[in-house]
Amino acid sequence: MNAEIENLAKLQAVELERTRLTQAARALPAEVAQTEAALTAAEQRSAATSCALMREEELRNRLEREAAQHRQKAARYRAQQDSVTTPAQAEAIEHEVRFAESEIERIENEEFASLERTETQEAAMSAARAHVEELAQTLDRTRERIALQQKEMATEQAALETEREILRKLIEPELLARFDRIALSRGTGLARAENQQCPGCRMGVRPQVWNQLRDGQLLTCDSCGRLLYWDPAFAAAPKAPQLETPATGDGHAIRRPNTAGS
Ligand SMILES: [Zn+2]
Repeated sequence: MNAEIENLAKLQAVELERTRLTQAARALPAEVAQTEAALTAAEQRSAATSCALMREEELRNRLEREAAQHRQKAARYRAQQDSVTTPAQAEAIEHEVRFAESEIERIENEEFASLERTETQEAAMSAARAHVEELAQTLDRTRERIALQQKEMATEQAALETEREILRKLIEPELLARFDRIALSRGTGLARAENQQCPGCRMGVRPQVWNQLRDGQLLTCDSCGRLLYWDPAFAAAPKAPQLETPATGDGHAIRRPNTAGS
């Protein structure tokens, strides 16, 4: 392969690697943002659980005040029971005492239910806090890792940039301009012909062109305009094992792979 083709191939590899790195670098902040979003969501869940716990506490305080009022009333009515004068009075007071006692019982049941909810919420709270802690650590590690990757990528980019400048100076300006123009519109300016085809556009090349390519010439694909070349290092290798397939013993000679016209 001639030096010009080799330099173009190297330049293309450098350009593709630069593009890959740029895209990879662009994807990095998203990873941090994703972890940040997960942490925010976990913090919100933890805060919501904390609020629920506070509401239960407030509820029990209110219930406790209500129960105290009913206990006071019940005590007051019981004190009056000693001084009643008529059966109707006695019955009325008895009714009030029973009502106060049933209210106390209802409130105590509510308090118990609230305590049970608190127990569940406290378990959820400690799980939520642990999760927040874990995600905060993950975020720190992710940020560190991403910063390191960004630094490495920047170093790599700088090295590629240097290599690119060196290679561009080695290539004939007119050819370089053509390469740049096609690369800009097609993504790649150079294609290594394989199996009588331009891999850039999948179009077949004419037999004469194929022969010229095999002679080491740099040509242009009629279909996509990419610069076409052939590299003996990539050719014929896959065919070798086929030729060494042992004979099946039926007396027929091993057929050579049919390459005519294909
Ligand atoms: Zn093509």
